[in-house]
Amino acid sequence: MTATTSAQAAHLVAALLFILSLAGLSQHRTSRAGVVFGIAGMALALLATVVLAALEISATAILLILVAMAIGGAAGLWRARQVAMTEMPELIAILHSFVGVAAVLVGWNSYFEVEAKGAAQHVVPAELLSIHHAEVFIGIFIGAVTFTGSVVAFLKLSARIKSQPLMLPGKNLLNLGALAAFLVLTVWFTIAPSLGLMIAVTVLALALGLHLVAAIGGGDMPVVVSMLNSYSGWAAAAAGFLLDNNLLIVTGALVGSSGAYLSYIMCKGMNRSFISVIAGGFGIEAPSSGDDDQGEHRETSAEEAAELLGAATSVIITPGYGMAVAQAQHPVAELTRTLRERGVEVRFGVHPVAGRLPGHMNVLLAEAKVPYDIVLEMDEINDDFPQTSVVLVIGANDTVNPAAAEDPSSPIAGMPVLHAWEAENVIVFKRSMASGYAGVQNPLFFRENTSMLFGDAKQSVENILRALDDAMSAGTVQASGGGAGTAQPAGAGR
Ligand code: NDP
Repeated sequence: MTATTSAQAAHLVAALLFILSLAGLSQHRTSRAGVVFGIAGMALALLATVVLAALEISATAILLILVAMAIGGAAGLWRARQVAMTEMPELIAILHSFVGVAAVLVGWNSYFEVEAKGAAQHVVPAELLSIHHAEVFIGIFIGAVTFTGSVVAFLKLSARIKSQPLMLPGKNLLNLGALAAFLVLTVWFTIAPSLGLMIAVTVLALALGLHLVAAIGGGDMPVVVSMLNSYSGWAAAAAGFLLDNNLLIVTGALVGSSGAYLSYIMCKGMNRSFISVIAGGFGIEAPSSGDDDQGEHRETSAEEAAELLGAATSVIITPGYGMAVAQAQHPVAELTRTLRERGVEVRFGVHPVAGRLPGHMNVLLAEAKVPYDIVLEMDEINDDFPQTSVVLVIGANDTVNPAAAEDPSSPIAGMPVLHAWEAENVIVFKRSMASGYAGVQNPLFFRENTSMLFGDAKQSVENILRALDDAMSAGTVQASGGGAGTAQPAGAGR
C-alpha cells in the first residue's frame, strides 16, 4: 500500500469515527463515547494529513505546520479550560468564523495557484477549469458569509452589541439583490476569471453575512447559531473540493446537513419559518419594543417568599440564563429538597431555549443532582400552571414572556413560552427590571400576581432557605405536609 492510499484509508476511518461521534452525541447515555469517537477521528485525520504532507513538502514547511498546530492546539486548550458554560455559544460562534475565513483563504490560494502555474503545469486539467473556477467562487462566498455572520453572532451573544434586529429599509431586497449579484458574478467568473471579480465576490459575501445575522433578533439567535454551524460545514466541504481532500468533503457535509436539520427542528419548536430565519429575517417587519407603559411592579423579600412557599402545595421552578450566571443551581436544588421534604410538590419547567445553549438548564440541574423525573419539558408542564400555587422564575425572562403569546407585534410573537403567569403566584428572581436577551420588555413583571425578588439569584435563594429554616425553628412553617390550599400573598390575585 502506498503512503497516499494509507492516508486515504485513514481518512475513511476518521470519517466513520465522526459519524459514530454524531450518533453517540444524540443521547445522554452515549454522549461521552461520542466525544471520544470525535477526538479519535480528529487525531487520526490530523496525523494522516501531516504524514502525507511530510512526503510531499519540505522539512521546513512541515516544521512550520507543526509549530502552527502546537500554537493553535495550546490556544484552543487554554480557551476551552477557561470558558464559562454561559460563554459556550459565543465561543462556538467565533470558532465557526475561523472555518469561514479558512475557506476564503483556501479559495484565494487556489485561484492564485491556478493563475500562476495552472496552464503550464496542469494543476487543473483544461476541460475542468470552469468547474474549478465555480468551486473557488462558491467556496469563497460561503466562507465569507460564514465569517462575518459568525463574528456578528459572537458580538451579539457576548453582549458586545445589542441583540435587537437591524432593520435597514428594503432589507429583504438587499439580501435578494446580493444573491442575484452572486449568481451573475459566478457565471461571469467561470467564463472570464479575474482578480476584480474575486475581490467583488469577497466583499459582497462579507457584507451579506454581516447583514443576514444583524437582521435577526435576539430571540432567534439559537437558530442562527445552528445555522452558522451548518454554513461552516458547507464552507469546509467547499474547501475540501479545492484541496481535493475527501475527508474535508465528508466531514463538511456531515456538519452542514446536521446543522441544517438542527436549525429546522429548532425553527419548528420555536414556531419560526425556517426560510425566513436563514434568509436573515425575510418577511419579518419592524417589531415593537414593548417598552410602552406597563404600569407598576411589586417587590417582595426573601422572608415573604419563604412564607409563601411554606404555605404552598405545588411549586414550579422555571430556570433561565440568570440561574446559570448566578450559578444558583445548587441552592435551587437544596430549596427543592427542603420543600419536597415538607410535602410540597416541586417540579421544573424547562424551555428548549432557556439559557444560551440547547439543554443548558438540564445540564446545570443534573450537575446539582435534581432528580430527572421532576424536570419536565415545556410541553409536558404548560397545562399545569393554573393549578400551581407558586412559580419561581429563576433568572428566566424571554422564555416566560406572555407577550410571545398575547402581542402579535412583539419580536418574539409566536414563540412558545412557559405559561408562568397562569399560576396563582409568581416570584421573579432577577437583579433589575432589565429586559431579557431578545431586548423585549416582559409584561409578566407587572401582573398583579407577580412579585419581583431583586438581587443575585444565588443569594436570593440562599436567603429564602435561611428564612425557611428560621420560620421552622420559630414554628411558623409546618415541618411537613405543606400548606393547606393555595398560598396568597398580600394583595395577590389576577
Ligand atoms: P433571558 O436571557 O431572556 O434573561 C435572563 C435574565 O436573567 C435577565 O433578564 C437578567 O436580568 C437575569 N439575570 C442575569 N444575571 C442574573 C443573576 N446573577 N441573578 C439573577 N438574575 C440574573 O433568559 P431566558 O433563559 O429566559 O431566555 C434565553 C434567551 O436567550 C432567549 O431569548 C433565547 O432565544 C436566547 N438564546 C438562547 C440560546 C440557546 O441555545 N438556549 C442561544 C442564544 C440565545 P437582570 O439583568 O435584571 O438580572
